[in-house]
Amino acid sequence: MISINKSILSVDELLSNAFTLEKNVESLQTRLHCGRIHFVDEKLIIIGTGPAGYTAAIYAARADLKPLVFTGGQIGGQLTTTTEVENFPGFPEGINGPDLMFNMSQQAEKFGARFVYEDVVSIAREECPGMFVVTSSSGAYKAAAVIICTGAAARYLGLDGERELIGHGLTACATCDGSFYRDVPVCVVGGGDSACEEALFLTRFASKVYLLHRRDTLRASAVMQQRVLNHEKIQPIWNTGIAAYRKGENGELCGVQLKDTKTGELSELEVQCVFMAIGHVPNSKLAGNLVDVDPAGFIRCSEGGVKTKTPGLFAAGDVADPVYRQAISAAGMGCRAALEAQHYLTNLS
Ligand code: NAP
Repeated sequence: MISINKSILSVDELLSNAFTLEKNVESLQTRLHCGRIHFVDEKLIIIGTGPAGYTAAIYAARADLKPLVFTGGQIGGQLTTTTEVENFPGFPEGINGPDLMFNMSQQAEKFGARFVYEDVVSIAREECPGMFVVTSSSGAYKAAAVIICTGAAARYLGLDGERELIGHGLTACATCDGSFYRDVPVCVVGGGDSACEEALFLTRFASKVYLLHRRDTLRASAVMQQRVLNHEKIQPIWNTGIAAYRKGENGELCGVQLKDTKTGELSELEVQCVFMAIGHVPNSKLAGNLVDVDPAGFIRCSEGGVKTKTPGLFAAGDVADPVYRQAISAAGMGCRAALEAQHYLTNLS
């Protein structure tokens, strides 16, 4: 006879969620620890579906760990908001970002990865028997090991009234929103590869694309710089930032107040949309004090590795990579995290 410890899993909870029921029928195992019976729902939970999460899922699924993967709200991660990816090995003609991520998800699913289409809000660790409790909007899931691949979210300037304007003329995704701004002037903020990529993409629609950069040198790769600086529709505005957003009577953004970063001089620019491309903030808060983070919020791992300070908790991709932040380096980290998790689980049993 099986007795269920109510503090971990009740019959009501099981019956209330068809997916949880199916999941437990498939993979419920019992474990004796500290003199009590506990249910181990999952061997491995992977959080996030960028290149790191999908690659971890492919490797873990092929190792028969049957990983449970939480997709997060942005299924496929940041690459689903880009157009052409030209530097992912194996695609000499380039590949569309959403297509690349869809292929990865298919590959993970083919080997037995299972997906939950939800955001994870927290990860905790039980002292005894040392399982992780992963909480999402639908409830709590237990796993012996967890890989965090939650990536990073677009950074904004933090100006007054900014939040209300997001989706009303302020966005961080040209691929998503660019086509709404046909034959009108727009601007992109930033000087990195993302800003250049966004600016180039927007030339398909906008009448003019201003590229606002706080310095007078782009940080982007040489090839992107050349494309941007040679494009007739793109006008860089150097040493310039946004001091304030201007909102029209309809509640939509209608312009920005510019500030010269050297002289402090203010001026006005009429644009229908601002595309923010000033980097990303790592999504590491869900792990609380189970992980150490650097001053920017990136999860600190063992030297060059994927192990956090908590045994059994791994991190991969942009959430733990302040330096490279490439799709291919994230995929490599996902692979290493899955192999480390496999090793950890083998040593547990
Ligand atoms: P990034 O390289 O960190 O560039 C961020 C840009 O935003 C910088 O130019 C920075 O200015 C500016 N910035 C940051 N905070 C700002 C603020 N508060 N106000 C105004 N400007 C601000 O970020 P990214 O462009 O998103 O690229 C991230 C990584 O992904 C990079 O490694 C990049 O190479 C890679 N990536 C590659 C591709 C591709 O190969 N197709 C496409 C996109 C991204 P400063 O220059 O003055 O610091």
